[in-house]
Amino acid sequence: MAKKGRIEVFEQFCKSCGLCVTACPVKVLRISEKTNAKGYRPVEQFKEGCVGCGMCAMTCPDAAIEVFRIEE
Ligand code: SF4
Ligand code: SF4
Repeated sequence: MAKKGRIEVFEQFCKSCGLCVTACPVKVLRISEKTNAKGYRPVEQFKEGCVGCGMCAMTCPDAAIEVFRIEE
């Protein structure tokens, strides 16, 4: 059974530091082209493949990501 996950980005908390982008082992995150209310470009998941490992959420200094594991 392949591990799967889903993330939610709280865009208003993201400061575009990029730590989660580096931390993600499957490289599904990137800095988006959007701008949040504070003028930062929030991170987004740009392709399938999140394994629900939680590294992004653990790395984020601003608690801007929540990870959900999907059981199949
Ligand atoms: S939970 Fe893991 S695989 Fe999914 S986006 Fe975060 S770091 Fe990447
Ligand atoms: S680690 Fe947090 S603040 Fe930094 S880019 Fe990722 S979501 Fe945004």
